[in-house]
Amino acid sequence: MRLILLGPPGAGKGTQAHRLIVKYGIVQLSTGDMLRAAVAAKTEIGLKAKSVMDAGSLVSDDIVNAIIAERVDQPDCANGFILDGYPRTLQQADSTEAMLRSKGLKLDHVIEMRVDDDVLVHRVSGRYTCANCGAVYHDTDRKPRTEGVCDDCGHSNFKRRPDDNADVMRTRLRAYYKETSPLVGYYHCKGILSFIDGMKSIDEVTADLQAILE
Ligand code: ADP
Ligand code: ADP
Ligand code: ADP
Repeated sequence: MRLILLGPPGAGKGTQAHRLIVKYGIVQLSTGDMLRAAVAAKTEIGLKAKSVMDAGSLVSDDIVNAIIAERVDQPDCANGFILDGYPRTLQQADSTEAMLRSKGLKLDHVIEMRVDDDVLVHRVSGRYTCANCGAVYHDTDRKPRTEGVCDDCGHSNFKRRPDDNADVMRTRLRAYYKETSPLVGYYHCKGILSFIDGMKSIDEVTADLQAILE
């Protein structure tokens, strides 16, 4: 199964991808996570991307297209994958289609997660993740069961993103509506688009996603 989770920053893409990969035995490919790893490792790509990401703008299509094209060739992608945060421009969507076609593959689903802007800002402002396994938490809405201990892996090391603040979030939302939201029409025309109400609880959203995927 190959699918795209499409939605603005804070819509819940990472949270849901984390659950779906367990259930379906597929991998999550988050260009945001890959770019943050490149920034942390100070690779050539990371050095180029850092200031763009800190400002909330989009990294160039060429960079992310190359990262994804290389990643989907890895053996762990054979069962399928969830694209989380990619594609984000029409150019990236065209690149995805050409790349998959050249491998004899196609997308099964594109699911748009809809959430109101004020809720997105609240979610992103309180977001933190487990530095070990990537599980996603929120200061008030989604705390670990035991304070300071990750539910999924038991580690106690959490991190926050420098771009998760209300100020940078305005730029990220603007980028989403300008560059990424046209993908909704693009995939609708291809007949593979569904949408879900991302304002519901995390469990309800998972159930709605599974109803589409089954
Ligand atoms: P979120 O999960 O909040 O939507 P991401 O982790 O996907 O954010 O992305 C963080 C940043 O990484 C983006 O603001 C952008 O600078 C960069 N980025 C991630 N994916 C892409 C992409 N497909 N195209 C361009 N830039 C990207
Ligand atoms: P995205 O990957 O789309 O940027 P995340 O999955 O990282 O979004 O979620 C952003 C924040 O919102 C996190 O702090 C997460 O715990 C929280 N969150 C995710 N889904 C929901 C939901 N359905 N209801 C309430 N909070 C949520
Ligand atoms: P400005 O007022 O600085 O010109 P914009 O008009 O581009 O900024 O967007 C302001 C905010 O309105 C964005 O951050 C986004 O949250 C929201 N927004 C912009 N375009 C849309 C759209 N097409 N649909 C929904 N919300 C939008």
